[in-house]
Amino acid sequence: NPYYDSSKPHHRPEGFVNSDGTVVSKPMSDLLRWYRERFGKSLPPPPGEFMANYDAFPVRPFKASPLESPSQIRASWLSHASVLLETQGLNVLTDPHFCERAFPVQWAGPARKVKSPANVADLPHIDVVVISHNHYDHMDEGTLLDLAKKSPKTLFLVPLGVEKTFQSWGIQNVQAMDWWDKKTIQATEFTFVPAYHWSARTLLDRNTTLWGGWAVKHPRLNFFFSGDTGYSQDFKEIGKRLGPFDFSAIAVGAYEPRWFMKAQHINPDEAVQIHQEVRSKKSIGVHWGTFELTDEPLDQPIGDLAKARKKFGLPDSEFELLEHGQTIILKN
Ligand code: ZN
Ligand code: ZN
Repeated sequence: NPYYDSSKPHHRPEGFVNSDGTVVSKPMSDLLRWYRERFGKSLPPPPGEFMANYDAFPVRPFKASPLESPSQIRASWLSHASVLLETQGLNVLTDPHFCERAFPVQWAGPARKVKSPANVADLPHIDVVVISHNHYDHMDEGTLLDLAKKSPKTLFLVPLGVEKTFQSWGIQNVQAMDWWDKKTIQATEFTFVPAYHWSARTLLDRNTTLWGGWAVKHPRLNFFFSGDTGYSQDFKEIGKRLGPFDFSAIAVGAYEPRWFMKAQHINPDEAVQIHQEVRSKKSIGVHWGTFELTDEPLDQPIGDLAKARKKFGLPDSEFELLEHGQTIILKN
């Protein structure tokens, strides 16, 4: 680990660990148990209770359009973990992925079940792309190369170690950040923050690059993006140091079965808890409805988030799910 700093609790000579010093590590026997139980079940045909089939998910094709006023701020969910935040003079995009598959090769691995609402050509100029970690559903080579080609000015902010992958693709305008590192661009402060997760792109690079979430403090809007995470104490700390947030994008999908997934992916219940701990005024659920990564039907977060809101006494509008490609206005 070329970044190894013995004074930092999440640094190890061979890579990184979570903020409490632990790693997400499941023995091979657990992985085999998950596969066995998964294929042993006679699961109803997906999606499930709320959508008749994949085509029933509404998709709103996204096309760039100017802001309606210089003070307007808006956000669009471009499927999975991709969120576009548009402000006058600074557009930010999280974990862009518009391709068919989330896998090293395009002929195997989890395929997109709902059509991408956008392509890179449909987007406005992107000033900053933030990457949460190097898993294939968050860091798509094709999409990132398209973005870099479209504008060499686009800056990619990435977790420590991930810049090497970008450089190997020929993307030079990349900057690696550690947890709590800050970078200010056009009066907007980007902070890379901890998450409870892991990283890997090959069989040999597990946890050699860092993972996390992003806090983006624009003068008129404080934004939080969770990345992929299990529940941890990190969120109280993020809320304390960088909150309250006006708007958050928090993962609400890929959480079943709990005995296997809890350590790496929050469920809607925990997402609402995190919404409260980071002190978010309004949140949207992301990381759902796009790739079938785990056991719950693709539409199950719709019901589970509604239950979680009820349990925590949240109004529907405070933590909602958008349609693929939907834009909401955060400030006028
Ligand atoms: Zn991940
Ligand atoms: Zn993911």
